[in-house]
Amino acid sequence: MDILKDYLAKTAGGELNREMLTFVANIDMVARQNPTIAKTIVQELIDQRSHLKLIASENFCSLPVQSAMGNLLTDKYAEGYAGNRFYAGCDNVDEIERIASKEACDLFGAQHAYVQPHSGADANLVAFWAILRKHVQTPALEKFGEKNLLNITNEQWDEIRAEMGNQKLLGMDLYSGGHLTHGYRHNASAQMFDCYNYHVDKETGLLDYDNLRQMLHEVKPLIFLIGFSAYPGNIDYAILKQYADEVGAVMMVDMAHFAGLVAGGALSGKYNPVAYADICTTTTHKTLRGPRGGMVLCTEAYAEYVDKGCPHVIGGPLPHVMAAKAIAFKEANTPEFKTYAHKIIENSKHLAASLVEKGIGVQTGTTENHIVLVDVAALGLTGRQAENALRECGLTLNRNTLPFDAHGPWYTSGLRLGTPATTTLGMGKEEMAEIADIIATVLKSVKPSLDKKGNVSKARYTIDEGVKAASIERIKGILSKFVLYPEIDTDFFAKYL
Ligand code: PLP
Repeated sequence: MDILKDYLAKTAGGELNREMLTFVANIDMVARQNPTIAKTIVQELIDQRSHLKLIASENFCSLPVQSAMGNLLTDKYAEGYAGNRFYAGCDNVDEIERIASKEACDLFGAQHAYVQPHSGADANLVAFWAILRKHVQTPALEKFGEKNLLNITNEQWDEIRAEMGNQKLLGMDLYSGGHLTHGYRHNASAQMFDCYNYHVDKETGLLDYDNLRQMLHEVKPLIFLIGFSAYPGNIDYAILKQYADEVGAVMMVDMAHFAGLVAGGALSGKYNPVAYADICTTTTHKTLRGPRGGMVLCTEAYAEYVDKGCPHVIGGPLPHVMAAKAIAFKEANTPEFKTYAHKIIENSKHLAASLVEKGIGVQTGTTENHIVLVDVAALGLTGRQAENALRECGLTLNRNTLPFDAHGPWYTSGLRLGTPATTTLGMGKEEMAEIADIIATVLKSVKPSLDKKGNVSKARYTIDEGVKAASIERIKGILSKFVLYPEIDTDFFAKYL
């Protein structure tokens, strides 16, 4: 098997398709070492092309972003931060990190950017510890008349550790849309902090600002954490900053989900957290459409603490991913990306409205961002049944808890749909209406089965086979007009799969 040679022979004398040539060369190189891995890469592209991606936390990054990630930069250790490394030979990584940080600051209007976190969860840990070190550890050291942790006694160190472990965090409840890292008991955040949760209002499904203010005054947390994975509303960061200041809380916003909407100006003014928060964290791979990774943005006051993410929390940074972040931030700082960000919200509003029109329950009845939360319990289904049935019909999306969910986080009562990926492919209003119709038709044809004990199952279901076949055809029809990475011809690989 000589994939590259085959491709060169097939295309000899024709026009050069650089993207395809690069892809073939990469697959060829992987296949020589491990053909099965090469096959899964191509198969993943085929699968993603044949299923409609409605996962709210996923996107399709550009081929330049992918190329920046897949190279020798991965070999380099660069513990520390640009200009301050624990390793030799970091000149090029310094340049990469400086460029990525500058691109991030330009894009978000941030005072400082730390681009090393490997993921959103890492970014949150970096931020938590930066806040703890600034507000607890440093003052405690000063009290002991010391600057260096290594110079204090074991008793003094125990005292600092106890104080660090006794701080309060107020974050959004997982069932209301918050993230695991915001104080969920099965996550380290809940073990690090004395955690308190706020919820959305039962009637509106949205945050209740008066209630939040009251909780802030009751709890008086060190960290007031805002941000979500499954919330369809806008958040007024200007007013929340006022409330945080009233009790001296540090305002931290985890904008992992909606950073692309901020970057593209679709969330601006009081809805732009970077303008108000002390610290913002984010992933770089969701609406922001970059490589898989994380980042922390902060005011100058937190910069020196955030920059110590390594050695404090993370090990060596990933230079290849920082390079890809730099590419993605520049891509996001363009008029095209602005249009894209606005279109994501337009599309999700159309999707929500079309679902409601078809009789499907949508949390809050609409959305203000890229997320649409669907209530499938009203159809007698769990999220798990709905997720699996829709996947069989050609749609990839994920189940999600709804506020105060009776089915819990495994089965759930809801689905979370998102439009970042379909919008990247170029879909618009017409496709959203068609997608909503397919979803409604499928969900109405799914029926829960009985489990082995004769009870109504939360996992098993039956689906109308005619509806399934028709849906797959309809999805194929949509995807044939909006091809993922159209430069890449997967038919060429058929004989290798
Ligand atoms: N924060 C929020 C709000 C998220 O939605 C997520 C991921 O879904 C994360 C953090 C964690 O990101 P990662 O999976 O990159 O660690």
